[in-house]
Amino acid sequence: MVEEKPNKYDQQESLPIPTYNEAISSRPSSSQSFLGPSEISHDAERQGLLGRRQPQHDGYHVPTVQSARSSLDFLPSSGENSPRGSTEELRREILQMDVVEPGADGDSRGLLLRGNLSKRITTLTQSLSSINLPFRQWLPSRDYILDKIPFLIRDLRPNWIIAGRFFALVLVLFLAYLLFLSDVFAINRRQGNGSVYYYPDSIRNFVRDHINETYIREHSQYITSFPHIAGTKGSFVLAEYVQDLFIESELEEVRLEQFDVYLNYPKKGGRRVAIVDPPELTWEAKIEEELAYADKREQTLVFHGHSRSGTVKGPLIYANYGSKEDFKRLEDQGISLKGAIAIVRYYGSQGDRALKIKAAELVGAVGCIIYSDPAEDGFERGDPYPQGRYMSSDGVQRGGVSLMSWVVGDVLSSGFASLPGEQRRDSKDNNPGLNNIPSIPLAWRDAQKLLQALKGHGKKVDDYWIGGVPGVNQWWTGDSKSPIVELANEQDEVERRPIYNVLGKITGVEQPEKSIIVANHRDAWCFGAADPGSGTAVLLEVVRIFGELQKKGWRPLRTIEFASWDGEEYNMIGSTEHVEARMDGLRSDGFAYLNVDVAVSGSEFKASGSPVLQTALLRVLERVTDPFANKTLRKIWAEKGDTLKGLGGGSDYVAFQDMAGTSSLDMSFLGNPYPYHSCYDNFDWMDKFGDPGFQYHKTMAQVWALLILELADRELLTFDFEVYANAVREYVDSLEAYAREQGAQKKDLDLTVLHEAAEVFMKNAIGFHEWDKAWEEAIGGGGFESNAMAIKRISHNTRKANFETHLLDIDGGLPGREQFKHVLFAPQAWSGYDEAFIPGVRDAIDAKNFTLAQEQAEKVAGILSYASRKLNH
Ligand SMILES: [Zn+2]
Repeated sequence: MVEEKPNKYDQQESLPIPTYNEAISSRPSSSQSFLGPSEISHDAERQGLLGRRQPQHDGYHVPTVQSARSSLDFLPSSGENSPRGSTEELRREILQMDVVEPGADGDSRGLLLRGNLSKRITTLTQSLSSINLPFRQWLPSRDYILDKIPFLIRDLRPNWIIAGRFFALVLVLFLAYLLFLSDVFAINRRQGNGSVYYYPDSIRNFVRDHINETYIREHSQYITSFPHIAGTKGSFVLAEYVQDLFIESELEEVRLEQFDVYLNYPKKGGRRVAIVDPPELTWEAKIEEELAYADKREQTLVFHGHSRSGTVKGPLIYANYGSKEDFKRLEDQGISLKGAIAIVRYYGSQGDRALKIKAAELVGAVGCIIYSDPAEDGFERGDPYPQGRYMSSDGVQRGGVSLMSWVVGDVLSSGFASLPGEQRRDSKDNNPGLNNIPSIPLAWRDAQKLLQALKGHGKKVDDYWIGGVPGVNQWWTGDSKSPIVELANEQDEVERRPIYNVLGKITGVEQPEKSIIVANHRDAWCFGAADPGSGTAVLLEVVRIFGELQKKGWRPLRTIEFASWDGEEYNMIGSTEHVEARMDGLRSDGFAYLNVDVAVSGSEFKASGSPVLQTALLRVLERVTDPFANKTLRKIWAEKGDTLKGLGGGSDYVAFQDMAGTSSLDMSFLGNPYPYHSCYDNFDWMDKFGDPGFQYHKTMAQVWALLILELADRELLTFDFEVYANAVREYVDSLEAYAREQGAQKKDLDLTVLHEAAEVFMKNAIGFHEWDKAWEEAIGGGGFESNAMAIKRISHNTRKANFETHLLDIDGGLPGREQFKHVLFAPQAWSGYDEAFIPGVRDAIDAKNFTLAQEQAEKVAGILSYASRKLNH
């Protein structure tokens, strides 16, 4: 438990955080109309209500031998039908033999021996329901018998009766072993440590069929009932809510993990956007959104997270989307930004809001306003909220403006974890992760006046610069003679603000030290129904399902870790600090990371990730149907020609993939724009427009849960290196094309080494998967797996997961942004949400430093060839 640390932000009237008691009292309980999922699940099961849940869609699933043998929606927990039944009998028989022990009275050696034996028998019988390693390790090998038995005989000489019994026992055990090798047990290959064996297909069907959208909707309702920005009481109260549900699901080692990190919050009365000159135009922006709820619940203020504090003044200049090209266009027209306030619109050719500000800063602007244009996300696209799904005239997109593609996590602790008590801090000044000019987001309602005021100043804009703000009949760039605008953005800056991740896990039985990490962030800019409430609500349902399985005695082969991150919205802080705090452990034992941020804002399934996970994802998409289209998600994907995209920046997978080398995947159901990072991203919006009926939430939970099983519970880890090697070939080809486009001739930059390394990778990938195929043929269908084979399989799995760790340039990192270590993926330096493949080379090409690009190409080729060879050696 952590201590409550109330502070001025919690008390600030303007920050709509409920008091602790208020928040707690609105938590679900069985006595209130809102039934907490746990209460529902218990009551419902007792009363057989689960049978009344939404009509079960007959989700397509691939028939297998195993599914034919198991009932679809039935989990054997004990009894005659289960394989466990026969082993229970055997166990009883063996134990009975052990307890009848006359003649041993007073014989201490005999007792000792008996004690050891019965302990071993218990071990044996506990693991008899499986053929997994603990059992095999115990089984007397030929050497064991030859070594140990003469010794035992010598010790037992005084009591031949005991010796006789011992041999009888050995015989029984041996018979048990033979029996065990027979067909009766052959299907029964895995579990140990007291866990119960279930048919893998029955587990898959169970998770898919028991996801309950009603529970998800109720979580969503609670999560979105108050704002919860990182570092405030709202996020802390939700951390406790998540923690309680983790505990309820009997996850192990449930705890809050604290980091003390740099955050800022608006000072009351400290923000202002106003035309101050000429006098006839004086005007002041409203800045805040209207109240989203009739009950006038408090809302978070409008600001940019990690924005520079300060008050600036200057002529206003419009710069389209604020990309470097846009500022270049102004310069080409002779319009200087020196000392100006830039106004730019969201989205477009620069999708990363932090880089819009950085681009303005680099050309000499002293402040930057970013507004939401209705042509991008408002009424020009469709009805705005509350009539439709789009941004309303007063809706504002808040958001972090730290430079996530340059420094990720706590910007004052780049490269190390901000653990409580950590003394080291980087400076806020000249920090590569922070912008140096103040900025603020605005609604188009406010931007309208500013854009109108530009009329007659500078140049009329090019057509593609014209936005959709009504009432602006002429769009002008503005120049140094534009009306003067004051931008105030006074922030309270807290250098060490506690944030809390929630952690819990289910330990695996075969490789308990190896983890599949499953997570979503919890902090939101306001109520956060889509971002990230949809992901949080789905995560909680996935945890409930795995809790149910666990209560029935099921255990995965590898450990499943669940996490709810804090501080994502500022700069992926919670996840990054977590990774930095356990970097070595993750590099050796992090098998995969499965991220969901916005689970649902529409109905189109999108995924990005390491190509090594593509096959696992496709298998899962084949088993899940779209709730309305009556087709599998895989079919829909194929029809749309959709593919697994590369990982850029913008959510919590960055530290896992790019620093720890943990193969990562990020998933979402997306759609048209919505009131992103606005207080209108709330429950009412989700319920009416985002996902009425919460069917896509349910579908995401199915995909996520099945993917967890795919990675945590398949004997052969579903990693596909042929897909990966093919992808790398494409990365190299497109990098080559990019280099030529950027003016690097072959004499400047020769990428032959990279092409060759891609081929080495392909060759090794093919060779590597031969073993998978051989294993599948010999054992995959239910055959007997020898001890030696199992050891090989486990080491084979470990090598799969180590591959991406080997792709890290651990001592180097990308020149200029050394936190990023992966040689194949990083966020693009100048487009943080997008991915850069082979980023070391790409960055150098962008800097027109072809010598560095050549060096980087050789380095990457070396690392890739090494990692490829390590697959097979
Ligand atoms: Zn998010």
